[in-house]
Amino acid sequence: MIDRGTKSEIESEGFDLGGTLHAVEHTAIAAMPLFALCDRGDMGGLSHTCFPDFGLPAIFLYDGYEGGVGLAKRALEIGTEWLTATLGIIEECPCTGGCPSCVQDAQCGNRNEPLDKEGAKYLLRRWLAE
Ligand SMILES: [Zn+2]
Repeated sequence: MIDRGTKSEIESEGFDLGGTLHAVEHTAIAAMPLFALCDRGDMGGLSHTCFPDFGLPAIFLYDGYEGGVGLAKRALEIGTEWLTATLGIIEECPCTGGCPSCVQDAQCGNRNEPLDKEGAKYLLRRWLAE
């Protein structure tokens, strides 16, 4: 979940909030197999610019299997390392607007729209700096 301060920071930096969350969601899922024995298809994600229950932007990641195979729990345990790996994938990719090697996901239900690669970098760096 993202607090109001971070939200307005992302917006005032000129990033697309929805695209930023969406890009982080995709790449975080792509980074998960580095830490757990799974395929990126094992994990699902959802991002909201304003989740009604909180009135704040949020990213949700969940086990793709009913009942779960413990991936979400594993994700909590490796938090910082996971975010670092996620940022690494984005930073090391030479593309400019985002490609299937970084923020795009072939299984995306929203046709990879919107995505903001630079915004994702900004948000991950900010989280890791905290
Ligand atoms: Zn790329």
